[in-house]
Amino acid sequence: MADRREVRTFCRICAASCGIVVTADGEQIVSVRGDSDHPVSQGYTCSKGRALPAMHHHEDRLDDPALAGQAASWDETLDDLAARLRTVVDEHGPDAVAIYRSAGWAFDAAGRYFIDSFARALGTNQIYSSLTLDTPNKLLVADLMTGSPLLLPFPDRENARLVILVGQNPIVSHGHGVMWPNALQELRQIRASGGKVVVVDPRITESAAGADVHVQLLPGTDAALLGHLVREVLARRPDTEFLDAAVDAASLDLLRRCVEPFDAATTAARCGVPLATLAEVVELLVTTPRVATSCGTGVSMSEAPNAAEWLSWALNAVTGSLDRPGGVLFTRGFLRPMESRIASRPRVTGAAATSRPEFSQTWGELPAAVLNDEILSGGVRALLVFGGNPAKVFPDSDKTRAALTSLDVLAVHDVRRTETTDLATHLLAGTGQLERADMPAYVDGTFPIPFTQYGARVVEPAGQRRATWWIVSELGRKMGVRLPEAPNDPLDDDAVLAGAARSGRATFEQIKAAPSGIVADDAPEVGWVVPDRIPRGRLDLAPAELVDQLEAWRDAAPAPPGLALVNRRLPHQMNSLLREVASQQRRPLPTLLVHPQDAAAYHLTDGAGAHVRSRHGETTAMVEISSAMRPGVVSLPHGWSGPDVNQLTSDVDDLDPLTGMPRFSGIAVTLEPVLEPVVAAPA
Ligand code: SF4
Repeated sequence: MADRREVRTFCRICAASCGIVVTADGEQIVSVRGDSDHPVSQGYTCSKGRALPAMHHHEDRLDDPALAGQAASWDETLDDLAARLRTVVDEHGPDAVAIYRSAGWAFDAAGRYFIDSFARALGTNQIYSSLTLDTPNKLLVADLMTGSPLLLPFPDRENARLVILVGQNPIVSHGHGVMWPNALQELRQIRASGGKVVVVDPRITESAAGADVHVQLLPGTDAALLGHLVREVLARRPDTEFLDAAVDAASLDLLRRCVEPFDAATTAARCGVPLATLAEVVELLVTTPRVATSCGTGVSMSEAPNAAEWLSWALNAVTGSLDRPGGVLFTRGFLRPMESRIASRPRVTGAAATSRPEFSQTWGELPAAVLNDEILSGGVRALLVFGGNPAKVFPDSDKTRAALTSLDVLAVHDVRRTETTDLATHLLAGTGQLERADMPAYVDGTFPIPFTQYGARVVEPAGQRRATWWIVSELGRKMGVRLPEAPNDPLDDDAVLAGAARSGRATFEQIKAAPSGIVADDAPEVGWVVPDRIPRGRLDLAPAELVDQLEAWRDAAPAPPGLALVNRRLPHQMNSLLREVASQQRRPLPTLLVHPQDAAAYHLTDGAGAHVRSRHGETTAMVEISSAMRPGVVSLPHGWSGPDVNQLTSDVDDLDPLTGMPRFSGIAVTLEPVLEPVVAAPA
């Protein structure tokens, strides 16, 4: 017990970045609790954060680098990798090397700096990230309406009197685009103080269960609902003062024409909801001064993701709620103040994908959904994966596996064994989040207040684990790629992190001296963007590309009757992370939620198996009969080996033509009972 200690740091499992106090005894992580001095999370942690000790000591953690499946030294692994990458570049050019980055890249400030420097120095156009698998509509719509992809609105939780959450379940997800650690308590507080919460979702989610109004619509019809709400507000109580001050007048006229077809009867039929429910939401909108409308992955992964996101912005604008207290606000940033970042920038930043020329590099990356074809067409010969699991999270799992196994080089950096590390030619064993110091640099622009924190290292790295920045700097040195100078000491994270604070609102020393984080007192006040700092001058309420998409979607034939599958998150799991820990819990497992009526119609029983088939593939899942589902809609979580929701999706069909976002939700499926018993859902 001599070395028992408490260390303040922050959780890097999801973007909420909750402040935590970790108790360690020697090299043993004993427990995690919330840091009550943390100004954003205020002592909150979820079950995932509290599972950090189990995650840290799990047998699937990687201790050593490996070459062709055999443990090796760093020199052996990186010498071989450098030589093979150099050969690929010399023979086929830099675009033959692709780089895919995910959570392990995003939540590692020092590592990210070196990875992105490496990509730039290599000169490859083949840059990818998981951002294009769940969020690209948010950046696109922000850019088209304001002129900056970085202006992401978030509900003013402190002052909101009416919150409308569309396809978003923050009690489990903890936010989408902007962090929301303790959504359960904050939504309760809004209601306790007389405010109202509306949740729009085909399932009675954890957030919908506590809402004042639950609009349980058909999957993928959010754009119709939002179009109707905008139409009614424009007819009954537009905030003309706000619109006169901030909005391009011609775009307001066009918006009015775009939403006109969404009358109550048409919308109720399209969304499959009672007229009375629509009227209840409209009444709240016309009697509440401001609204905070926000969309989640239920929108971005479904039909018409851009149109729905646009109309949620439009609803906030026509009610005068955009960048106003009680409505939605814009973050201000700390390490990279947003005032200096929101200038207009070109959307297309690089060449088109050679196998899918309809998609070009946008804001520094190509859509992840085209990577399989870039590999299988022979253009990409080597792939470096940083902290991600494409074998499990890309659409069309079989095709992804075929693509990954066809590569000359698949180098994977991770902290634990995954479906992707199992295929690696070179395995790069990284330090876990408790083995390195860090700062929340990637999510800097998503804190609701201008805040940052220095998260201290809790324990020394075990085995041969190394910090990402060290691995990449060594690889660059061996390849002769010019990178920023790295410290000599592989444990000196601070020397790299200090660079991340260089343009911040405080010095690195000041940040480090505040173990629960620091809030800037010199950031601009709420309302800093609208109307004076809108990059394009005035808001465009009807961007042409979105108008075209809405009209095409509105006029398309509705989906034929049948079952639709929607995606969901689990409280104990984060994408494909934490499955091994979650599977030790009694519930929730990755079950297929089926309404009792559908279970009877398809002869399914609780705890037994079901074959789930789409036009793209099939998987098998354990049935959980649940009246939380809307009849005709079933739900599976993503990121599990079995059942595999990605097996049901395509990386060619149903891609959004503007962003390349694949459809992961609202997929037409059929069900058939499995005759043999399903004992447990595997991780
Ligand atoms: S919400 Fe949970 S997983 Fe996300 S940062 Fe907080 S404790 Fe970690």
